[in-house]
Amino acid sequence: MDKIEHIGIAVKDLSVSNALFAKLLGVEHYKTEEVASEGVRTSFFQSGPNKVELLESTTEDGPIAKFLDKKGEGIHHIAFAVDDIESEIARLKNEGFKVLNEVPKKGADNKLVAFLHPRGTNGVLVELCQEIKEV
Ligand code: ZN
Repeated sequence: MDKIEHIGIAVKDLSVSNALFAKLLGVEHYKTEEVASEGVRTSFFQSGPNKVELLESTTEDGPIAKFLDKKGEGIHHIAFAVDDIESEIARLKNEGFKVLNEVPKKGADNKLVAFLHPRGTNGVLVELCQEIKEV
């Protein structure tokens, strides 16, 4: 795995949190994107070399809605950049990690993504993400 690509934060209201994080980081978010398959609307901030992704639920029973019900707003996942997501999934499975998406799926921000079950990672939801390379 490579650097931390971004930190994902679950929020109740994206517009309220966009304003809050703009104040906190001193920059406006640079994009908003809806991932319908996940039932989320996301926004991204760039702060120096770091990226923050805010996630708001667009459905009542999606993964972010469930997370907010259980834990409230806060850090939802840590995403690591990988060069080759398929080989990284294979490596982690081989190490005994439970991969939630054995076939990587299209995530926000032009990425292929896969998540590891937090039960196997000390409660931390880990996202692998690989830039989708233009052919
Ligand atoms: Zn993410």
